[in-house]
Amino acid sequence: MVLHSVASFNSFNLNLFNLIMMQSPRGTKDILPTTINAWQQLEGIFRRVSSLFGYQEIRTPIFEHTEVFLRTIGENTDVVGKEMYIFPDKGGDSLTLRPEMTASVARAVVQHNLTASNPLQRLWYAGEFFRYERPQKGRYRQFHQFGAECIGSSSPEADVEVILLVVKFLSDIGLKEFSLEINTLANSEVRTRYRKKLVEYLTEQKSSLSPESQERLEKNPLRILDSKHPLDRKAVESAPTILDYLDNESAEHFEMVQHLLTVEGINFTIVPRLVRGLDYYSHTVFEFISTALGAQSALGGGGRYNDMFEEFGGKHTPAVGFAMGIERILLILEQTNPTLYRQTTPDVMMITIDKESYPYSQTIAQTLRSAGISTVMDVQGRSLKAQMREADRLGAAITIIIGENERTSGKITIKDMQSGVQETAGQENIKEIVRKMLSLSY
Ligand code: AMP
Repeated sequence: MVLHSVASFNSFNLNLFNLIMMQSPRGTKDILPTTINAWQQLEGIFRRVSSLFGYQEIRTPIFEHTEVFLRTIGENTDVVGKEMYIFPDKGGDSLTLRPEMTASVARAVVQHNLTASNPLQRLWYAGEFFRYERPQKGRYRQFHQFGAECIGSSSPEADVEVILLVVKFLSDIGLKEFSLEINTLANSEVRTRYRKKLVEYLTEQKSSLSPESQERLEKNPLRILDSKHPLDRKAVESAPTILDYLDNESAEHFEMVQHLLTVEGINFTIVPRLVRGLDYYSHTVFEFISTALGAQSALGGGGRYNDMFEEFGGKHTPAVGFAMGIERILLILEQTNPTLYRQTTPDVMMITIDKESYPYSQTIAQTLRSAGISTVMDVQGRSLKAQMREADRLGAAITIIIGENERTSGKITIKDMQSGVQETAGQENIKEIVRKMLSLSY
């Protein structure tokens, strides 16, 4: 009896274990061959657009010393306070899976002294990021971003350059459903003065704020401005805005950004309550919003950060950058641009009739591949009919049938699957015939 219950307990646990192990961790997603084409196309377009603007790729480690993010993003932000994947390694160092890229890029730029050879660094990146958030549509624990950083310029032209890069990217991927919101967080003197006024105002409203914002009032009052909680929204409706406190430098910078966007015909809305979730911003901040996304409406965003490089022991280096959420972009494109998701199909499928013909079939497949023609062949010893069905399923443009006749006569039958047209070729001109057929069918 005892033995029996131990056994059933173990098998129950084993089943549970298998069930858990079969699932990717909560908030993560496998990217399967059915969608990989869309990912690859977006990556290709982002790479191309970045290089059109003179940006070069940078890749940094997926984890950093925890301090890298603590010192830059800010201890009182949600990202640092609640969402980071922090772990000690076996040597006792505290490491963190990167929740964003800007801090890592700044760290790398200082570490390798990149600005010594060229004081202006234009860098782009693509990769995965990690935040322990409550998963929902458009919000995951492992997600992907494309981004760029223009490092070494304090001028509004640089702010607008990165915005133009995003606009070009969105236009090239055919995403039209978005709007651009901008604001300024001014320089640190203005921010300190404004912060004081805001705290005074919100302290009077304290009892009508959400419990979370009551806590933020001490630590991170600016974040209350972009809280989605209905109580906070009401309370901040008539809060003072930073725009009323700008000094000349901050105002001129912000006006130039608006002017340059207007010159390019870029529509934007000034949203004085836009503050973004990370502490390092000053002057321009911006967000690309899409109503097609529901609650997680931010496609991407960014802004200017002038004081980060000193944190890594570098010299004062003004910079501006952005990051876009790829999953959110794909959520929209799934609806509006399904062709992006079309899977790649082989040019040719070899149909091999008998076992003896496999080596011959394989040699032809190799000849075609070396000519850049994608070619698949049966490797399961299936019947002719099953191979034809497979060619259909894969969407092969052409089939080449090889059996004893073809092998002995050297005359090979090539069939265009769409038109049904067949041609007979000798082994020496098979590549030319396949190429001709492919060019006709595309
Ligand atoms: P942030 O680094 O917070 O400024 O985020 C930039 C963009 O990354 C956002 O606008 C989103 O599109 C995307 N993003 C941020 N966090 C997540 C997440 N947890 N899941 C999916 N996308 C995210």
